[in-house]
Amino acid sequence: MRLYLGRFLALVVLALILGWSLSVFLDPLVGLLVEIIVMAIPLARGYRYLERMQQLTMLESNKLGTGASGAWGDALSKIDRIVTDARSQIHTLEARHNRFIEGFQASPNGVVMLDDDLHIEWCNASAESFFGINLRKDNLQNISYLVRNPDFVNYLSLRRFEHPIVIQRMGFAHELTIAIQVFPFGEDQLLLLAQDVTDLQKTEAMRRDFVANVSHEIRTPLTVLIGFLETMQSIELAPDQRNRYVGLMMTQSSRMKSLVEDLLTLANLEANTAYAPMQEFNVVAEMAALKVDAEALSAGRHRIVFDVKTDTALYGERRELHSAFSNLISNAVRYTPEGGQITVSWSLSPNRHGIFSVTDSGPGIEAIHLPRLTERFYRVDGSRSRDTGGTGLGLAIVKHIATRHNAQLLISSVVGDGSTFKLRFAPERIL
Ligand code: ADP
Repeated sequence: MRLYLGRFLALVVLALILGWSLSVFLDPLVGLLVEIIVMAIPLARGYRYLERMQQLTMLESNKLGTGASGAWGDALSKIDRIVTDARSQIHTLEARHNRFIEGFQASPNGVVMLDDDLHIEWCNASAESFFGINLRKDNLQNISYLVRNPDFVNYLSLRRFEHPIVIQRMGFAHELTIAIQVFPFGEDQLLLLAQDVTDLQKTEAMRRDFVANVSHEIRTPLTVLIGFLETMQSIELAPDQRNRYVGLMMTQSSRMKSLVEDLLTLANLEANTAYAPMQEFNVVAEMAALKVDAEALSAGRHRIVFDVKTDTALYGERRELHSAFSNLISNAVRYTPEGGQITVSWSLSPNRHGIFSVTDSGPGIEAIHLPRLTERFYRVDGSRSRDTGGTGLGLAIVKHIATRHNAQLLISSVVGDGSTFKLRFAPERIL
């Protein structure tokens, strides 16, 4: 700095000497004018650089030091470097911050930052949709004033954050079940995490229903069986009565056996979500075998017609295809009253879909039941199903087999007229 002060003083001395010489040898006015001009040069430069520094405070200029020399040039170049470094740090931090925000936004889980008084400081889009809030509008609002669910408000006010809570009827249309937990962090900050557990809850409810249904289905024949056994143990029965009891016990036992077999089939199908292997399946030969079984099951009570319109074969898993076809035929025989007609056909549609169809003249099914028929244990007429040895799992099994074979199960029915169950195989399954 001293060097620059020396230079400045030298300039002043030079200006004075020059001014004095000119005033002595030329004209005092010229000398004064030259003195003023020489002295004004550093002042003008100072003013120019001051202007640039003003620009710097507005963070607009980048090359303050360019063209500047001396003390000003040095100072401005240093400031330049500091500003450039600061700017690049700001950019890095901004980019990192934006990446964090993008990460949180990409999360399907809700994230809300709260201060200790539960004011919203930031939240991601999932949290907005879970809680029905809008960050732009609701920023710094107390979350418990915006989300009026009593369980949620209670959880926040009690501050027992060690465990999560599950809250129903959340989301814009109250259609979601959300698991929520709050984690305190920093000095007085709260991080609220929310997860959509709607599907998980539905699956859990289905599992509970399934276990309850299986227990009920098995308990009923077991109770009957135990009842007969107790009677036979305590009373001496006449031979014909004893035979009748044994027959009834056999019926209940085979009902339990069918149920366990169907449960195992269903469990295997559900565990195996891959498409069925492409084994050649001769449908014409299968139709002949199915006809024999259907007639045996009907025992002459129905008129049964088998209509084979094509000799086309299928690609699929033999046991599964047989199980699906015979389930549909057995349902038609079991639900169609004596004297009714059952038509089973195998045909090829013009766009090469294979159609296996079973039509009966039975009681028909009300439209309201149709979408639920393939649910496990769903029955329209429970007592008819059980009386005829039904497990309530047949159509669930057929639906799974269809899915594994690129096929659709199509059901149409008119109450009083009868029903048609079709399996429509995609062309890639047709040989
Ligand atoms: P189930 O063992 O009870 O027959 P399914 O899954 O095969 O179980 O069928 C589900 C329900 O669909 C049956 O309980 C019955 O009420 C109805 N259903 C199935 N097929 C027919 C049919 N051909 N005619 C009338 N109702 C039927």
